[in-house]
Amino acid sequence: MDRLRRILASGSAGGVVLLDGGIGTELLRLGAPSGQPLEGCNLSHPQLVRQVHAGYRAAGAIAHKTNTFLARPTAQPGAPSGHDREWWQRCNCQGVRLARDSVGAEGLVFASLGPPRPEVPRAEAIADALAQATALAQSGPQGQLADALLIETQSSPAFVAGLLEALDRWPEWQDRGVIVSFAYRGDQGPPRLHPGGEGPEEAAAAVQRFRPLVVALGANCGREMGLEALEEVVRRYRACTDLPLFLSPNAGTPAATPEGLRWPVSPEEFARWAETLARGGVRLLGGCCGTTPAHLAAAADRLRTAGLLAASAQP
Ligand SMILES: [Zn+2]
Repeated sequence: MDRLRRILASGSAGGVVLLDGGIGTELLRLGAPSGQPLEGCNLSHPQLVRQVHAGYRAAGAIAHKTNTFLARPTAQPGAPSGHDREWWQRCNCQGVRLARDSVGAEGLVFASLGPPRPEVPRAEAIADALAQATALAQSGPQGQLADALLIETQSSPAFVAGLLEALDRWPEWQDRGVIVSFAYRGDQGPPRLHPGGEGPEEAAAAVQRFRPLVVALGANCGREMGLEALEEVVRRYRACTDLPLFLSPNAGTPAATPEGLRWPVSPEEFARWAETLARGGVRLLGGCCGTTPAHLAAAADRLRTAGLLAASAQP
């Protein structure tokens, strides 16, 4: 199944494929227990994960990320969770199954794989990420369950290149394809990766040589990435690559309040961002931390009215 490649090959005339919004922040908003890996909800609170996917599906999202962002032992922040490899493997498998079951055969499922912790030696981080990618690549009775691997929120082009080199020698994701997305910071001048300081050109250069394995390049999450900074990333990507672009911004940068984190970008404002970014040439568009089904529903309405929205995941 290479449905995503066929959709992307239709060019901008095919319209924007709408993704879902934040997974972790939405799970917490709906009451997921904090203080343990949110990915563990796939096993302990599957109904909550289904609820997140269903909310985004009702909002009009066609492509859905799995709740598997940091579902591997070396990627977890803080103390080791004490779970063994087999538990993490089940967590990834169940995450893909929950997404596929929730979004139906017509939806696209992107298997999420997040960044390594910076202190983990690169070879160890890549080996662990490969183990996660293997678990995410599983097939079901109807064929392969995920449509693409989404390597997201990345900040090290060197780690990404090392992982792609390993994936490129390995058949599981070759036919479906890989989306690579970097998390930039805009709080110290032009958008840069942290801590290396690379810009969009260096990030693009690190993944370009892995075509056709890589099918899209993008930016998601990040800090102080307002609309202007996002537009700058899109413009600079466009100047150095013709890979289809993926974009999935946060609902702004959150402020700490007594009630918890507050995300400043409203659904209406997010919809305005979505239209601007779609007109800038982004093909795969959704939200990251702090975005909710209300944000995606507003974006879907605005893109549909503007004639920019792909009607379905059919190529
Ligand atoms: Zn995020």
